[in-house]
Amino acid sequence: MTIDNNTDKHAQQDTALHDLGCPFCALVCDDVSLPVRNGTLLTDKLDCPKAQAGFQLALSHINGTPLINGEASDWDSALNQALHLLDGARLPLFHGLIGDLLDCRAAWSMAARFGGVVDHQEVNTIARNLAVYQDSGWIVTSLGEVRNRADLLIWVGEPIDDELPRLRSKLLEPAERLHTDKPIDILELGPDPLTVIDHTRVLLGQRPLTEPTSAASMLMQRLGDADYPVFAIGHLRGPKAELVLRATSDLVRDINEQRRAALLPLSTGLGDIGAQLSGAWHNGFGIRTSLARGYPIQDLQHFNGQSLLDDGQADLLVWISTLSAAAPPTCEQPQIVFGHPAMHLGDRPPAVFLPVAVPGVHRPGFIHRGDGLRLVPLRGLQSNALPNTTQLVERLITQSSKSVEAC
Ligand code: SF4
Repeated sequence: MTIDNNTDKHAQQDTALHDLGCPFCALVCDDVSLPVRNGTLLTDKLDCPKAQAGFQLALSHINGTPLINGEASDWDSALNQALHLLDGARLPLFHGLIGDLLDCRAAWSMAARFGGVVDHQEVNTIARNLAVYQDSGWIVTSLGEVRNRADLLIWVGEPIDDELPRLRSKLLEPAERLHTDKPIDILELGPDPLTVIDHTRVLLGQRPLTEPTSAASMLMQRLGDADYPVFAIGHLRGPKAELVLRATSDLVRDINEQRRAALLPLSTGLGDIGAQLSGAWHNGFGIRTSLARGYPIQDLQHFNGQSLLDDGQADLLVWISTLSAAAPPTCEQPQIVFGHPAMHLGDRPPAVFLPVAVPGVHRPGFIHRGDGLRLVPLRGLQSNALPNTTQLVERLITQSSKSVEAC
């Protein structure tokens, strides 16, 4: 198999690579600088620990051997075995999708050709957002707009700084802001803010409320002092999560009756926005869509990937994870894994393991930022012998004899 991943020639020289896109968390920074000495990328100079770990792991794994049932194989045999499983599957599940836009598009192409369901590993946030957006619409803003214009940021749910290491320095405490010199005022509503938000809506509507919480009175006061408040949605957990999101979206709509306010729904899932948007472009829907009948059917409840595995409706798991080396989930179904070359396969190796290039390290690519509003280009940084997901999928699709017919 001939590999040409179009890696960056500057990485071979003594210099620094500037303005790199980093794909290792949903913030998808586009300003990463990586020094180069004697052709070696000095990842230990990166100040973000998550980026350092992500780049180091990928750069130290530039080759990969395909495996069949855990035994080393050659590419032809591994691809033939994968094709055999795909052609014979009744309902394959294309899952994980911890990758860039090209990995997600490859999953949708396979689902169309082999007749299966597509879902993302960490899709609960996206599914909840979709449900609210489809029901009532919403008023949202971007990370850049918050950094440069917002004067009050209200955290709804648990903060997500741990998962997005540079969020605070880039968004909440930026070195400079384009349209104001004032720092952003920050207010945290905590993990269970439903009552506060409901009371604030009542107060805003000047309806009677016998005992508003002190937190609601304080939020009203801060909203009154602000020109551009933004409600950032962090981690929402538990059965009230969707209610909290709906109430916050309604509050933002109420405020906009008089003046500007916005919602900032943030995702921490790697590749979840790309999975959703590439699905919308491909078939008009997005995650949790089945193409088993030759046309798309979306059902956010029924086509939950984990449920399809647990109740045995899916009979083959195709796991795509190019950005994370974590093992795929254990399940009874046979597995085909398009994986990070350093992937830990655990005690039960998949039926077929196909090590593929990591976007932003071994090959160029594109990935959406966690606010869903920016597609960041990624560069290939190092020569390597790894195929990319798209190349393998094109070969499988071309050689397939399966027919999926509308019924
Ligand atoms: S915050 Fe996230 S995207 Fe930014 S450099 Fe760190 S790991 Fe990469």
